[in-house]
Amino acid sequence: MVAHLFNALLGETDMAVGVGTVGSSEAITLAGLAFKRIWQYKRRAEDKPFDKPNIVTGANVQVCWEKFARYFEVELKEVKLREGYYVMDPEQAVEMVLRTLYVLDIPIHVDAASGGFIAPFLYPELEWDFRLPQVKSIDVSGHKYGLVYAGIGWVVWRNKEDLPDELIFHINYLGADQPTFTLNFSKSSSQVIAQYYQLIRLGHEGYRNVMEQGVVLATTKTKPKISVNKSILKKEFPTMSKAVANQEKEIYSKLLKRLS
Ligand SMILES: *Cc1c(COP(=O)(O)O)cnc(C)c1O
Repeated sequence: MVAHLFNALLGETDMAVGVGTVGSSEAITLAGLAFKRIWQYKRRAEDKPFDKPNIVTGANVQVCWEKFARYFEVELKEVKLREGYYVMDPEQAVEMVLRTLYVLDIPIHVDAASGGFIAPFLYPELEWDFRLPQVKSIDVSGHKYGLVYAGIGWVVWRNKEDLPDELIFHINYLGADQPTFTLNFSKSSSQVIAQYYQLIRLGHEGYRNVMEQGVVLATTKTKPKISVNKSILKKEFPTMSKAVANQEKEIYSKLLKRLS
């Protein structure tokens, strides 16, 4: 269902694969490891050094990307943000890649932790997912706009080949073959069931209604209290905090105090 949401190819030859995680942080770590391992295979086959991998991200990324880079020894190259533009500038990202590579045949991971449960319902025509051939993996947090309580994330790979076999362990502790690719071992299945329940209960239309209401609330109901720049908010929704301009910080902290 999650793979379908991201327009994965689920045919005879192309088969998306995925795994449930504790959240997007674990999902991103696993996707990063898959990238790293595939890159190492390729470099080794070309008889080139394979000890200095790097990834290009926006400087606005969540801390889990910095954790991944530091824990798993990958250089993080950040595209700086600029006034009025608080997401990664794709042109600058391409420039940064071309500075070392001269070709653009690189895999892309989309961190859709929040947006992965918004864009498919509100902006289905927006091509950000597996419709783009370079997109090899996508993560989403079920416990954000997936509407499940904390402890669930998802990562989907475009194809089986995008997830090296070497990273998958096969265990038989419970009597049958069980492939596993997660950082932890035991985990409650309640969130998986809750995600399944929500998807079935609400359906496409239900999720769309919820997300539409969210946009209405974020763009109109909050206006009398915090005046937000709507164009930023539209781009950044739901990371509302970023849309609060400097002079509004005071109102924002008052609001936070009242809420806490
Ligand atoms: C929340 C978030 C993460 C981390 O997700 P968790 O589910 O909290 O582990 C990663 N990236 C982005 C863009 C996020 O919003």
